[in-house]
Amino acid sequence: MEKSMRFALVNDIRCEASPGMIAFCPGCSRPMTARCGMQRVWHWAHRGNRNCDPWWEPETPWHRGWKDKFPAGWQEVIQRDEAGEKHIADVKTEYGLVIEFQHSHLPAQEMAAREVFHRNMVWVVDGMRLKRDRSRFLQGRRLFRLIPRTSIFITPSPEACFPIAWAKCTAPVFFDFEGVAATSEPSGPNPSMLWCLLPERVEGHAIVAALPASAFINAARKRAEIFPGQAILGIVATRFRYERALEASGWAYAPPPRRRRPFRRSRRMRDT
Ligand SMILES: [Zn+2]
Repeated sequence: MEKSMRFALVNDIRCEASPGMIAFCPGCSRPMTARCGMQRVWHWAHRGNRNCDPWWEPETPWHRGWKDKFPAGWQEVIQRDEAGEKHIADVKTEYGLVIEFQHSHLPAQEMAAREVFHRNMVWVVDGMRLKRDRSRFLQGRRLFRLIPRTSIFITPSPEACFPIAWAKCTAPVFFDFEGVAATSEPSGPNPSMLWCLLPERVEGHAIVAALPASAFINAARKRAEIFPGQAILGIVATRFRYERALEASGWAYAPPPRRRRPFRRSRRMRDT
């Protein structure tokens, strides 16, 4: 499939595609043609199906929708390393965080190479691409254990609910299963949630944190880190120590005693 971009240079100014326009690629400076059809979002394509960035993936409405949550100047940012290697980051915030939106399958080698190249980055993965990815997640999520009073979960086997390739990432991965929360929690309005798998493990357990998509966007607009990663690791480690201490004292996993509500006659009972 041909690689496409949202922005290309017209007189050195980043422009979106419109019919009949000609522009140049900000990455390789080769000419690009505006593709403004009915099938796909309007975009720029390299002439002759050439690709300047082997990592670039065809833009889907899902990509475009996500990228649009950020200022245009943060989208499709050319990144160069010391060796002169060039790649385009989907989004790079003004705090230096790179956000890569991944719809297609990604070979493990390329995943690792991108993490090394971008350093401070997170992945947002389209969890709706394969039906079975979502159903596996819903199944596997039942094995999550919640850290009380947080939205942090632990699981000994993340590969039971996330695609195995992503379970080996060295950067946080946010899975976008769009509306997963809505199916299990019928009460109240449910914002669409992202499920973040952190790269670190604590005592062999993976850490998964849930957050509304809007919170992700707000965090990315304000800080260089979406989650306070170190603090979360600390919370999980503390929980493990606490559970071990409970176990040693013979109170293993006893729920706290429930406070009895004083019996109160309802108004109707009193009136009669
Ligand atoms: Zn190019």
